[in-house]
Amino acid sequence: MNTLIEHLAEACGRHRVQEKWLIAPSLRVGHQWLDQVTLAGTPVVNVRVLTVRSLALQVIGPRLAEESLTVASPAARRIAVASAWQDVMRDDGYLGEARRTPGLLALAEATILDLKLAGVAPEGFKTGAFEHRLKGHELTALLGAYQGELDRRGLIDNADAARLATAELAGNGAAGREIVLLWPEDIRLTAVEQTLLGAVAGGNVVTLAVDQPGGDDSGKDLSVRFVHAVGEANEVRGVLRSCLGEELSLDTVEVLYTASDPYVSLIYEMAQRVFDPETSLDLDIPVTFADGVPAKLSRPGRLLAAWHEWIHDGFPQSGLLRMLQAGLLTSPAGDDHAVATAGLVRTLRRTGIGFGRDRYQQCLQEHIDSIERPGSHLQSARALAGFVETLIAVSPEPSASAAEAVAAARALLGDHARVADKLDGLAVQRLGQELDSMAEALGGATADPAGFDVWQWLEELPDRITIGGSGPRPGHLHAAPLRGGGHSGRANTFVLGLNDGRFPSAGRQDPLLLDVERRQVAASLRTSDVELHEQLEQFDRVLAGLRGRLTLSFSSRSLDDDRETFASQVVLSAWRRVSLERDGDHAALMKRLDPAISFAPRDADRCLDSGEWWLYQAAREPRVENLPELAGAAFDHLARGAAAGTARASDAFTVYDGRVDDPGAELDPCDPRGPAMSATSGLQAIGKCPLAYFYARVLKIELPEHVDVNPDEWLDAMQFGTLLHDVLFRFVEKLIVDDTWPPEPERDRPVIASIVQSLAADARRRHPPPNEDAYRRQRRRLDGSAEIFVNEQARQAGPGRPVYLEASIGLPTEQRSTDIDAPDPVEVALPGGGTIRARARIDRIDRVDDGDAPKRPTFVIYDYKSSSRTDPYDPSDLFDKGRLVQHVLYMAVAGAVLRDRFGPDTVVDGFRFMFPGVRTHGREVAFGRDVVEPGLEVIRTLCALPAAGIFPATDDLADCRYCSYRAACQAVQRDLRDLCAASKRKIDNPGNTVLKPFVELRRDG
Ligand code: SF4
Repeated sequence: MNTLIEHLAEACGRHRVQEKWLIAPSLRVGHQWLDQVTLAGTPVVNVRVLTVRSLALQVIGPRLAEESLTVASPAARRIAVASAWQDVMRDDGYLGEARRTPGLLALAEATILDLKLAGVAPEGFKTGAFEHRLKGHELTALLGAYQGELDRRGLIDNADAARLATAELAGNGAAGREIVLLWPEDIRLTAVEQTLLGAVAGGNVVTLAVDQPGGDDSGKDLSVRFVHAVGEANEVRGVLRSCLGEELSLDTVEVLYTASDPYVSLIYEMAQRVFDPETSLDLDIPVTFADGVPAKLSRPGRLLAAWHEWIHDGFPQSGLLRMLQAGLLTSPAGDDHAVATAGLVRTLRRTGIGFGRDRYQQCLQEHIDSIERPGSHLQSARALAGFVETLIAVSPEPSASAAEAVAAARALLGDHARVADKLDGLAVQRLGQELDSMAEALGGATADPAGFDVWQWLEELPDRITIGGSGPRPGHLHAAPLRGGGHSGRANTFVLGLNDGRFPSAGRQDPLLLDVERRQVAASLRTSDVELHEQLEQFDRVLAGLRGRLTLSFSSRSLDDDRETFASQVVLSAWRRVSLERDGDHAALMKRLDPAISFAPRDADRCLDSGEWWLYQAAREPRVENLPELAGAAFDHLARGAAAGTARASDAFTVYDGRVDDPGAELDPCDPRGPAMSATSGLQAIGKCPLAYFYARVLKIELPEHVDVNPDEWLDAMQFGTLLHDVLFRFVEKLIVDDTWPPEPERDRPVIASIVQSLAADARRRHPPPNEDAYRRQRRRLDGSAEIFVNEQARQAGPGRPVYLEASIGLPTEQRSTDIDAPDPVEVALPGGGTIRARARIDRIDRVDDGDAPKRPTFVIYDYKSSSRTDPYDPSDLFDKGRLVQHVLYMAVAGAVLRDRFGPDTVVDGFRFMFPGVRTHGREVAFGRDVVEPGLEVIRTLCALPAAGIFPATDDLADCRYCSYRAACQAVQRDLRDLCAASKRKIDNPGNTVLKPFVELRRDG
């Protein structure tokens, strides 16, 4: 029992039946004191715990009802301060020129309350006390305007409550009330509160003595130990490991923290990991938090923050996806949440919404209309559209009024917040109360309160509000802030976060009312140095009142930036006192302490879970020699991972490097059951990296649709390329129909400009640009390419003229069909036997003979490229070691279909890549028909790889640059250079005979 409890017990015994009012810093702390008295064997009868605030409210309760006064909620106070500031501050004033932010208003509110609690009234303000007289006048006016605003709204704040209660008692007289006031001597009171207690007491006061810091400790039952840890998370682990290793019952432990951030979150999350969820407990874990846990740890709190960001970022599709994926939103009623959400996520990814509140309904409807067959996809799209409609309905634009924004947030929590555990339920309740009180303070006003930013208030709400606060309970570990904790009377106390820089926290001056001004305005106003001193004094008092075992803990290494961190001065002082090393410095302290508590426990009996037990085995001395084998025996995936690592590190080409044993006919492009081949996603993909082809075409792994909005880009590379192709298609088609080929710049520039205008407007409707700059940049590129195309085609025009545009062979028709379109792939014979089925979409085929017999029908193929580089299409070896065969395949495919149409004499005489880009300026890279024969040899070699189940990684890092599977490969080998080097090593190993086709491509070109 500490001194306070002894005296309280004595007072309760002495005034056994008399009514007693016990003044405590909080109701929760007061009840903890009474519990200790009861536990010590003294009956507690007729004792009422009160704070100064609740005491004042009790005294003035009838008057509040009579005069229709209400205690101002935090929301109402904030609005009153904002209105007062707006009324009295001028832009050319002293404080008025400061930018009005929510932070500034919070400061102003704190300053006003300090002044009022210190008993400073506007009329008693000494304006000469300020660094500038104008500032004094402004603060006087602010104080007056704030009070006027409260009066106008029929509100009172805490200072008013204390003042009114004092006046009430003075009027009715405190004497005669047979009440004993129990008053701990260390309770901190403001001037106004002191006056109130004086009035209440009427002389019938029992002052309760407390343990004095620095007093005689010799008779105290208190042992102190010092620990340090690698980061704050391990300080928390240290507490739980002590409970386990020392067999401490949880309800004998109180954890005090110096800063709620990060300790409250760490304690909550660690407890969730270590303890099985127990639904009979308040937060499902055996831990009570005196101040609760922040609402941001709950799903509704996270939803409110994410929703705010979604609205203010312009309703991006990616924001909605993130909310769904994090499980923050309710799914359509009655469905399994995980399954229903996965369906919504999949469907949402397929719709090209981009961003914008108004685009959701329109794009989802277009998506629904595009689904041809009824089925689960259509169902999911309809469910998503219905779901989004209700979400959008409660999501206003950022320009909404404060009342609308608060009502919308309330509806969001009520209708859309997912509640999956107790914390979520409490969060919906508590956040809802805050929103209701703000709605009440706003009073449904259509005009926003001057100077008040409701969106910022909403954004900060989940951080500011705490939920699930509780006093100590049987069977629970109790966590409390250092300031206000240490009252549970438990035998084991841990104080976490005693780091230099964290405790004591630096005393900061109030920028609105400087220390020097505070001293002059009223002696009772607290200054920053007093605050600092009080922190240290409070620490000493808490320690003085503790009994049993005390552990002082600090973090000796920052995990964020991997640097050494140091103990607070209070730890050093306590250690000097305990160790009797009066001159000991930080180095001496560290030398005496046990090694830091880390992720790996030092004792087997302190492991919190099996993961910690394995870490302990990995770090212990003497070392366990065969740990990898033991781990492999216990965890099959680790054993397989180790085997894969060994195989990859060898020179042999193994199943872990892309070898498929017994691949089957369906992988063989030359087998009728095998895949039909296109140029870019088929043959050239193999030539670039067989492993990437394996991921895409064999395993059929697709990257999720990219939905993030790039603020610098209107269209991505593929969308821009498609738009340019569409423009060129329309333009050339028009000239064919009008029989005006070749183009004439003077005549045709306006024609192509109008096509660009129309198609760009359409693309803009489908893909709204993130900003006008991004649109203008790409629009200029498009305009430039269109003009270059007209000019260069006019300049290079020969006897030929386009006859087929976007011919689709083995593929569905995309634009307008041509008379050579074929739904089925065509067969292309390869040298040395074997046939592949090939498909192609050919941008343009020109006929270059004049169509008169007896000349052979002769054609040339054009392929437009929007790339700004021409070199990949102009390799020295014609086929870029297997990476370029489009020219070969297109000439072979077009030859087959054109011969069917025009007779066996028909010849495809050449192939041209055409680059109408601004940088490439209409350059053409031309190939003659002589490349077809050697090119088909290369295609044969390419096809041999999947046919044999051989899918090695590329040996050239340049191939990885734009690869979609970088993340997959980096999971195997963080540095892709190492992966390519390993592949090269295996290719160079003559023992890997199966790699012969790849060697032929890469080495023999
Ligand atoms: S990242 Fe490189 S090695 Fe991996 S699949 Fe892509 S191209 Fe091949």
